[in-house]
Amino acid sequence: MEQGYIDLHVHTTASDGTLTPAELVALAQEKGLKAVAVTDHDTVEGLPEALKAAGSRGFEVVPGVEISVDYRGGEMHILGYCVDPCSEPLLDSLAQLQEYRRERNPKVIRKLRELGMLISLEEVEEAAGGNVIGRPHFAAVLVRKGYAAGTQEAFDKYLGAGQPAYVKKEKLTPEEGIELIVRAGGVPVLAHPKYLKDHNADRLSALLEKLKAAGLKGIEAYYTTHTPEETELYLRLAEQHALLITGGTDFHGANKPEIELGAGTGNLRIPYELLEKLKLAAGKQ
Ligand code: AMP
Ligand code: ZN
Ligand code: FE
Ligand code: FE
Repeated sequence: MEQGYIDLHVHTTASDGTLTPAELVALAQEKGLKAVAVTDHDTVEGLPEALKAAGSRGFEVVPGVEISVDYRGGEMHILGYCVDPCSEPLLDSLAQLQEYRRERNPKVIRKLRELGMLISLEEVEEAAGGNVIGRPHFAAVLVRKGYAAGTQEAFDKYLGAGQPAYVKKEKLTPEEGIELIVRAGGVPVLAHPKYLKDHNADRLSALLEKLKAAGLKGIEAYYTTHTPEETELYLRLAEQHALLITGGTDFHGANKPEIELGAGTGNLRIPYELLEKLKLAAGKQ
């Protein structure tokens, strides 16, 4: 069994992270990690650069994606691992999801302006750089302009679910998100179960049963903000439902400065062994 640590949940400038894919790979190697999965929101555009950087540095990058789907009127995130970045159905659906973001973004701007903030879509687009605009980009502009002290405050006061500048975007159903990843040759995994609306052990168990029937293969048990008790619960549910276990930090660079690549808020350690099992499930080993 290979030794070493990994991070299976990371964002780049292709979505709402602040490091380019190549910079991310360099940092991961510098930190002594053995592999990272690039899992940008609703896009695989960062994957070619990340895979190329990995190839030239002798580092391992797992091609991934993170898809937001609808759950009880709120959000659920599905991670997809070992996806084919060239899969046509995947690229078509991601283009549609990006369109849903484009429909949402001006509405968020309108709400922020109604709240008295001087902010334009152009400024947010500039902060984003790429094709996928996420709420952390709005937060970055709010912070830069002095409307919030930091990213978290921008979410707590304005952008988070239920806050005055929150706008719901169109989403796929969980089953559609899972199917999309499966069709792209990937392994679908439920991200950060902690953030599911109204979740408890029984409800999560029933949900996993349902998602597994739709093709779900794993659960992200190790995650930056999971408490030891939550991690225990997710590990137990993974065993009960015969699901793979994954783990990641949700690193976003300077957009979430409190999260360190590979370590979360300090002591997260995700063993390479989890990736070996994931690759077996994907038929990539
Ligand atoms: P979006 O895809 O545009 O809806 O933005 C989703 C991203 O915003 C997530 O990946 C998180 O990084 C961040 N986010 C969402 N809700 C919160 C919150 N309440 N506090 C901090 N960050 C959040
Ligand atoms: Zn994000
Ligand atoms: Fe997420
Ligand atoms: Fe994420």
